[in-house]
Amino acid sequence: MEPTLLKARGLEGSRTLASYLSRGGYEGLRRALALGPQEVTKSVIDSELRGRGGAGFPTGRKWTFVPKDHPGPRYLVCNADESEPGTFKDREIIEHDPHLVIEGIAIASFAIGAHTAYIYIRGEFVRWANLLEQALGEARREKILGADVLGSGYSLDIWVHRGAGAYICGEETSLLESLEGKRGFPRLKPPFPAVVGAFGKPTVVNNVETLACLPSILTRGPAWFASIGRPRNTGPKLFSVSGHVVRPGVYELPLGVTFREIIFEHCGGIRAGRKLKAFFPGGSSAPVLTAAEVDTKADFDACAEAGTMLGSGGVIVLDETVDMVEAAANLAHFYAHESCGQCTPCREGSDWLVDILHRILAGHGRAEDPDTILRICRFASQGMTICPLGDAFSLPISSIVSKFRDEFERRIAAATPAPPRKHPVLPWAGPRPGFGR
Ligand code: SF4
Repeated sequence: MEPTLLKARGLEGSRTLASYLSRGGYEGLRRALALGPQEVTKSVIDSELRGRGGAGFPTGRKWTFVPKDHPGPRYLVCNADESEPGTFKDREIIEHDPHLVIEGIAIASFAIGAHTAYIYIRGEFVRWANLLEQALGEARREKILGADVLGSGYSLDIWVHRGAGAYICGEETSLLESLEGKRGFPRLKPPFPAVVGAFGKPTVVNNVETLACLPSILTRGPAWFASIGRPRNTGPKLFSVSGHVVRPGVYELPLGVTFREIIFEHCGGIRAGRKLKAFFPGGSSAPVLTAAEVDTKADFDACAEAGTMLGSGGVIVLDETVDMVEAAANLAHFYAHESCGQCTPCREGSDWLVDILHRILAGHGRAEDPDTILRICRFASQGMTICPLGDAFSLPISSIVSKFRDEFERRIAAATPAPPRKHPVLPWAGPRPGFGR
């Protein structure tokens, strides 16, 4: 497949406006301005583009939730937080083609009637925030942005907002809280951001890759986009592959390619001639798949049918040397650290998981531990929390326990009783090996 999102990769000076214009840049925005907002939205609906940030919600339909008769301002927010472990594809687009993102933001803003847009990016991503600032400066100087976008009379400005760096600020409502200058606490939904979003106004939050798909949908047509992949799962997709493969990196492939093709063809297979053990298909919050499930198609619906999710397309590959109890403990530690603490099942549940998993790793596991882990995961998922972070740790950890239960049971069978309590409540509390807690 001819690259669409990464076509600038390898081109000298690809980040400059001159390079972007020489490749037909901002032609999609010109077409959008000529078509009008409703036709642009219809094109995106017809393309069947689904959000690339994780949820896979149809992009055009999301735009239609913005109330048409709202009298005040409305906003478009580009989510460049990219905090999901194993995900590094948005930075690849910004690295090589920041104007592609800016053009996508302009098209989406025009479609929903926004005159101000924000790019919310993690504070740690200094390089990519600077690249975006430079590209925005070029676009403003050439009157591609500003009071009269490309001479159309439509006004738009785009601002880069740097976050303080928190996993949870990738979730759209906590992102909006952070954008407003507050602590990144997720909000209860409804109301959804399309109705009450940034500064209390209707707001659409779209991911970088989602927005980068828009220029080609406008220039090549929705039918072209929909011809890639299969119905409901259309278009090119970036897969950021990490872990134990020979060639980790970002790959642009059609939706519906199998994970076998991604891992063994594009990434060169498993390092050092070892065997594949398992993989997370869509970032660390996706339920794990085993080597036997490697022929699953990498698209939204096929992943859902396999009991997992495509998520952000961050494929984390584990070879046969990986201890799955350690993998589960590693995940639990990350999510316990990132829980914002608003909901008891997430705040307490993630910490309990850390304690139980580290007790097993310390050689003091109990026979009931696997079932206790599954029970905690059940209570922290299934809509029991304000935001999806409860699911983000419950689903992968419960899938690891379910699919690799024998590894937990082997450790527990060899366990010795825990040493006498030094702590009045949690005998295993204290330094956790390897994590500095
Ligand atoms: Fe915070 Fe966790 Fe509740 Fe999300 S699920 S709001 S991260 S406590």
